[in-house]
Amino acid sequence: MLQDLGRRLARQVRAEDSLCRLAGDAFMLVLPDVGQDLRLADLASLCERLLARMAEPFDLDGHQVQVHLSLGVALYPRDGTDGETLMRHADTALHAAKHAGRQTYRFFEPSMNEALARFLQTRDALRDALEHHEFVLHDQPRVALDTGRVVGVEALVRWQRPEGGLVLPGDFIDVAKESGLIVPIGHWVLAEACRQAVAWRQAGWPDLVMAVNLSTVQFRRGGIGDEVLAALEVSGLDPAGLELELTESILLEGAADVLTAVSTWKAAGIQLAIDDFGTGYSSLAYLKHFPVDTLKIDRSFIAGMVEQEKPDA
Ligand SMILES: [Mg+2]
Repeated sequence: MLQDLGRRLARQVRAEDSLCRLAGDAFMLVLPDVGQDLRLADLASLCERLLARMAEPFDLDGHQVQVHLSLGVALYPRDGTDGETLMRHADTALHAAKHAGRQTYRFFEPSMNEALARFLQTRDALRDALEHHEFVLHDQPRVALDTGRVVGVEALVRWQRPEGGLVLPGDFIDVAKESGLIVPIGHWVLAEACRQAVAWRQAGWPDLVMAVNLSTVQFRRGGIGDEVLAALEVSGLDPAGLELELTESILLEGAADVLTAVSTWKAAGIQLAIDDFGTGYSSLAYLKHFPVDTLKIDRSFIAGMVEQEKPDA
């Protein structure tokens, strides 16, 4: 596929341009002598053309595979006068493009350096946190209104920094997702939540259900279907004691993989919930395709619903 990708890229540039593969799935294009009068708009349309060409599926032995391209652009002499600086700034712009979502491009801007530095700092700290077991789970109870009994808990991850201070997910989850560290973190959360659920069930809540949140990134990486089953097996948790919370975006991005994983889980007896319902492209129609047990309506719809009275629309 990389060879195919290389050929496709090569067809988009001029004979005097250079194309090389830097590492893994990273390619570099060097376009010399683009002319004094080259406008940014021209470069932008080149970027758009590259994105469009690469978005067409690749055929790998009969399998249709789609790649998601991100582009970062640095200009000589505006963004640097030597190769090293230009490459570094192009890389920074690339990073910004990835951050903005896949299938897009960015031109380097000096302010990007600051944002990148912050990202790298958090990413490295998260790596250390994983290694030094600094994550903890806080169980948020779910109480049955009719009996007042705790019927379940939702495992919420927190980062207990050694220098003190508990960091909430809002301050690190984005970096974890973007860096891919959400995969090992999610792996730990799943295993730990299952272990904890077994402990709760033995401690006097035999029917307690442990809810665990899953992110789109975990699905993109693949293998999440088996990972969940393995966590159950290792912990000895009854599948009925686990509820997986999926967001609408997981379901929407939902290729065949998601459907397969979801139906495997369902068949195993695991419960499924849609989290933050109402914040994405909510559609009751797709709920028909997913065997969902619980809808968790987003807090923005619930907040103040008892106090506030809206006039009739
Ligand atoms: Mg949740």
